[in-house]
Amino acid sequence: MGVHVLRLDHRPARDKRVTSHLILAARAFGASGATYTGQRDPSLEGSIRGVASDWGGRFVLDYAESWRRVVADWKRRGTVVHLTMYGLPLREVVASLRGIASDILVVVGGAKVPRDIFDLADWNVAVTSQPHSEVSALAVFLHELRSGEELDVEFEGARLRVVPRAHGKEVIERLGGI
Ligand code: SAM
Repeated sequence: MGVHVLRLDHRPARDKRVTSHLILAARAFGASGATYTGQRDPSLEGSIRGVASDWGGRFVLDYAESWRRVVADWKRRGTVVHLTMYGLPLREVVASLRGIASDILVVVGGAKVPRDIFDLADWNVAVTSQPHSEVSALAVFLHELRSGEELDVEFEGARLRVVPRAHGKEVIERLGGI
């Protein structure tokens, strides 16, 4: 099952770092791509593509004007999971979610969340019933969905690779990709 993330209502002036961190978390925790709506932000797109090219793996980032269209298209071929503090507790539903055969679109909100997404989503899932952040909600959701296995994934074709060290920093650079 593949996972794609839909980030709603990006506003560059206010959300630049949050959206960037959200998409980096999506990539690092095993999603194969993300789409964002709101205001188009070429600088966000450039920085994510730069990270993906340096650090490897396959990750696509798209922009869409209409979140409704993304969700409607997705519902023809997959499952839509909306992360919201008002949904069902993650640990009550994660076993069912792991059993989904189709790809999953994970929808995360911005400052305001359109009411209809609660009805359009196949699942409304809460990562605790406390307010926090789209970045923490997405990271914990992906971690639970994959039972932690995403932590061991190797990103193919990387130009840069960290050599884990107890102290200090070591990064290997390969001109042709790793
Ligand atoms: N005020 C917004 C609203 O109308 O619901 C939510 C703002 S919150 C900072 C942004 C996003 O973080 C939410 O749309 C949701 O996707 C995610 N989020 C925050 N807390 C969450 C939680 N406890 N469980 C799941 N997702 C959460």
